[in-house]
Amino acid sequence: ALYRAKASGRGSARLFDPENDRHTTRLRQIDAALVNEFEKQVFFLEYQPIVRLDSGAVTTVEALVRWKHPEYGILPPDQFIRASEHNGAIIRIGAFVIEAACAYAATLPDHIAVAVNLSPVQLHDPALIERIGAALVRHRLGPGRIEFELTETAILDVSPETRRILEAITALGCRLALDDFGSGYSSISTLYYFRFDRLKIDRSLIKDAMDDPRRRTILFHIGRMARDVALTITAEGMETDHHRVSLIELGFEEGQGSLFAMPMSGEALHDWLRLRLV
Ligand code: C2E
Ligand code: CA
Ligand code: CA
Ligand code: CA
Repeated sequence: ALYRAKASGRGSARLFDPENDRHTTRLRQIDAALVNEFEKQVFFLEYQPIVRLDSGAVTTVEALVRWKHPEYGILPPDQFIRASEHNGAIIRIGAFVIEAACAYAATLPDHIAVAVNLSPVQLHDPALIERIGAALVRHRLGPGRIEFELTETAILDVSPETRRILEAITALGCRLALDDFGSGYSSISTLYYFRFDRLKIDRSLIKDAMDDPRRRTILFHIGRMARDVALTITAEGMETDHHRVSLIELGFEEGQGSLFAMPMSGEALHDWLRLRLV
């Protein structure tokens, strides 16, 4: 009791008091629940299928966040993610996205994973790994059902800290995708130093490459390199059947884009999947 009385004068000593610790844990849980309730009113996710180019089977759906703004209507992520990274709100938004994506994954068949975009700022959230682990448990998901997409900007710094976080995500059993490859921030070192499971080629590289032999050759070799190091090579922004035919020729395995479906509500995606199976 003496120790406790003395210790309570110092902030950090609280951590050693089991009674107090239970109390703080409970507060933290209540806090997390409240934060989530608030975010649920404001944000929602849409989902876009990622399909195998050969069979057309859906392997993954990417979760994409939107903001239900009271005045401006539905805002796309390009209009608020950057600001949220600057003011720190991305941690809470990101926590909502992880939770909602896991809840949705639990409603899908086991062979379909959900891809979640991670902001670089979230890599500095000390609770990130705990959040992911807790969401997997809460929704009884095998970790292979969740894939995390990182853009190269997120991980340009090949620091031990970044490595530790990415390895912890992998150690949980979740997969990692390198997003927007070729969008302007590409560097081979990202691929060189970190182990990804998927390489997503940015829409801008896919767009005009199909009728240009030189560009096709470059994509062919990126694809070949990817396959040789066990990366699932994936094309973004596939809009035409010409894209599909050409990308199969170039050895691409999976793709995403308006050719298959644009992002839609979770409910609409359920219907879309059902119709496709028939
Ligand atoms: P992204 O990760 O590259 O996501 C793909 C974007 O391309 C989506 O835009 C999608 O609607 C769009 N898209 C897909 N297929 C096509 C197509 O065939 N043609 C065209 N023109 N566009 C297509 P969206 O949903 O507006 O998202 C924009 C970006 O916002 C995402 O790019 C991602 O970087 C970011 N983002 C989305 N959700 C989240 C999130 O939960 N967390 C974080 N940190 N970032 C997110
Ligand atoms: Ca993405
Ligand atoms: Ca992308
Ligand atoms: Ca993008």
